[in-house]
Amino acid sequence: MYNICVAGTGYVGLVTGACLADFGNNVVCVDIDESKIERLKQSEVPFYEPGLQEIVKRNVERRRLSFSTDVGKGIEESTVIFVAVGTPMSPEGEADLSYVEMVARSVGEHLNGYKVVVLKSTVPAGTSDLVEKIIGETSTTGHDFDVVSNPEFLREGSAVEDFMQPDRIVLGASSERALKVMREIYRPLILQDIPVVETDVKTSEMIKYASNAFLATKISFINEIANICERIGADVSVVARAMGLDQRIGPRFLRAGAGYGGSCFPKDTRALVKTAESLGYDLKIVKAAIQVNDQQRLHMIELIEKALESVAGKTIAVLGLAFKPDTDDLREAPSLDIASGLLARGAKLKVYDPVAMEQARAMLEDVTFCGDVFDAVRDTDGAVFVTEWNEFRDLDLDKVKDLMKSPTIIDCRNIYEPARMKELGFRYFSVGRPSTEE
Ligand code: NAD
Repeated sequence: MYNICVAGTGYVGLVTGACLADFGNNVVCVDIDESKIERLKQSEVPFYEPGLQEIVKRNVERRRLSFSTDVGKGIEESTVIFVAVGTPMSPEGEADLSYVEMVARSVGEHLNGYKVVVLKSTVPAGTSDLVEKIIGETSTTGHDFDVVSNPEFLREGSAVEDFMQPDRIVLGASSERALKVMREIYRPLILQDIPVVETDVKTSEMIKYASNAFLATKISFINEIANICERIGADVSVVARAMGLDQRIGPRFLRAGAGYGGSCFPKDTRALVKTAESLGYDLKIVKAAIQVNDQQRLHMIELIEKALESVAGKTIAVLGLAFKPDTDDLREAPSLDIASGLLARGAKLKVYDPVAMEQARAMLEDVTFCGDVFDAVRDTDGAVFVTEWNEFRDLDLDKVKDLMKSPTIIDCRNIYEPARMKELGFRYFSVGRPSTEE
């Protein structure tokens, strides 16, 4: 059992802190965002993540989990400091390491004994050297410390489950002393035979970027195949299913649609390209994946234009705003680009998302926010599904049709079956599959 400080209580930090407390450690989660910490002190999770509320509440009640804005005190009272602050994209496309550097300085200033500093944030290869340098330069006490890389692979929407049942644990370290601590912290998972990859720090940092870039490439690949399918009248969902049955390929991340978004793939792919550039290497495949993803959003707008024979003056429902289901995260969500593209072309928008409405209000202007799907589709010329929420899968589509002015659906996530939609009387357009007009 360790005293652990988790710096940054966002999606990764809060899940990490709560789960490590559940393993029996004493965890203090610290953040510079006072309102976030205030809400957490009331056991209120400041974002939507299934299962997280319960685990936070349970561990607060057992006095193993606490929250504070006092980063220095959190560091002083802990042996292990997990760094889970944001590493957003800088205007140049690189990873902005200023928050990581801020925590490193705090660790240096409060180094009152041996500490293991664990980089959970996604950071370019070489960042641990930088963190080590900053701590060394800031500290006046001369105590020992080690910097470990332990990238996180959880997905928003299933974050707790992913943390508790990961495909693998990656530990990058140059010190046996620090590795021993990390193995003890992850013992509850290691005992369940979760594979552990122990390696050097730079390799560990690369594993995270390589994994995200590969998954993003898989999505862009199937979207390009979808674009060919559209032109020749083939069905990409069947192509993808058959491809995925090949065990060398696998079925996941092969769904054609509006492309990837969120707080990871867009920034991590760009950061990897920038890292390669700084090393004099042209990372062609990942660059192409990014280009295809940007293009796919424009393609969705063209698909909507085609379906509605111009969107100017039309009223359109945009259904699903979060970048994927089961989260309220709107960072880099395709819905934002699709909405602004449609507004720029003169459309009027009525928008709805099952959980991301509060976030959407802060990010979308000149649209009408609706309370449910039926409210959103009422008197519209078309409805666009952008996020594949389960709530949309078993909708009363007869009711949707009756409420719409003109029953045209553009399904950017291939939620529905074209034959059924035709039977129900919709004009139906989806990605990489023949429309009901063809
Ligand atoms: P987030 O934006 O949700 O949370 C980051 C938190 O860090 C914020 O609450 C912010 O106030 C806090 N913070 C900033 N500076 C701080 C400081 N000096 N001290 C204490 N707190 C500070 O970010 P996130 O989505 O949880 O991502 C965190 C990191 O994990 C990023 O590097 C990201 O790439 C990586 N990651 C994210 C996911 C994901 O699905 N979100 C998955 C794997 C890895």
